[in-house]
Amino acid sequence: MLNKKSVDDINVKGLKVLVRCDFNVPLKDGKITDENRLVAALPTLKKLIADGGRLILCSHLGKPKGEPKPELSLAPVAVRLSELLGQEVKFAADPEVVGPNAKAAVEAMKDGDVILLENTRYRKEETKNGEEFSKELASLCDVFVNDAFGTAHRAHCSNVGVTQFVDTAVVGYLMQKEIDFLGNAVNNPERPFIAILGGAKVSSKISVIENLLDKVDTLIIGGGMSYTFSKAQGGTVGTSLLEEDYCEYALNMIKKAEEKGVKLLLPIDTVIADAFDNDANRKVVDSNNIPDGWMGLDIGPKTATMYAEAVKEAKTVVWNGPMGAFEMPNFAAGTEAVAKALADTDAVTIIGGGDSAAAVNQLGYGDKMTHISTGGGASLEFLEGKELPGVAAANDR
Ligand code: AMP
Repeated sequence: MLNKKSVDDINVKGLKVLVRCDFNVPLKDGKITDENRLVAALPTLKKLIADGGRLILCSHLGKPKGEPKPELSLAPVAVRLSELLGQEVKFAADPEVVGPNAKAAVEAMKDGDVILLENTRYRKEETKNGEEFSKELASLCDVFVNDAFGTAHRAHCSNVGVTQFVDTAVVGYLMQKEIDFLGNAVNNPERPFIAILGGAKVSSKISVIENLLDKVDTLIIGGGMSYTFSKAQGGTVGTSLLEEDYCEYALNMIKKAEEKGVKLLLPIDTVIADAFDNDANRKVVDSNNIPDGWMGLDIGPKTATMYAEAVKEAKTVVWNGPMGAFEMPNFAAGTEAVAKALADTDAVTIIGGGDSAAAVNQLGYGDKMTHISTGGGASLEFLEGKELPGVAAANDR
């Protein structure tokens, strides 16, 4: 359970509340093309407004690399957020983020008012967690609320540095939900607990595999990373994604799983192609027998059925990483089968952000999952068992 103070533990009446949101939304020609992150921020904002706080919102948007870039201004977010909240969100258009506009707007605020600061990454110090910008942000407020899970694995001024200069730092509802679901799933799961890992590389998921082998009953592996396991066990993988340097590691993981009594499921068949192209020639072969010149781009139908069957037994499932190159429709069946299996089960299902979250949503299974994390990198670090700086910085209960 969450041992961090949240917005439910504080009284913000008449106080200036700096809220670190995740308004890192996709923009096209100045228009927001996906407003999920704005909608997701509303419960915390509405609660703080109803309690009579004076809200100063901040966020990063894209990667302006420490200088003002008009195309990455948060101005369009202020407009849309005003509509979603049904009240004005005043935009403080300071290129230095904490500037004369922000200070004057904060000075003039009444209880329940909302202002939005400019993109925090307009400042070079932001991603370096510099003291000066952290102090400037803190000088605007009495209380700090962090509701940006997507950046919780980074120590930046607007989510970590600022907390050194305010007495009260708590988490918002979005953060609380992420910590509760991911934390509970990993540390206190209802069993059987199954983790499904996919994606391109073994090397980027090593810490996740190691941490999860200590916790799960079954570990399912698919996607590009599975070929390193095949090769390590003596299979041929053709031109599939392969990290030769990690073959020994893969063997160690297979051994560790055995020692711990963890069931490790690897693909038994594979959809192969003669080019990395949706329209390439395709066929299904045994996973350990991929011919020269062919590459594995998806788990095969037998594997998909085996994984779906395994999921049926689970009470908790965590999934991170697609089962194949799912962006190409001809190689999306394995990822789709896993998404469907998760949608069909009564188990607690947690999708660890990034590609798997996108896949689940694209396929229309989003509302069938217990929790879809809003943070790809942050959720992965959670699954690695790491303490996230953005979470650690909040006051303990
Ligand atoms: P990751 O960021 O490590 O989770 O990797 C996600 C990416 O891995 C997606 O873009 C997938 O297209 C890609 N991927 C998954 N399986 C394969 C595969 N068998 N061959 C090539 N790319 C793959």
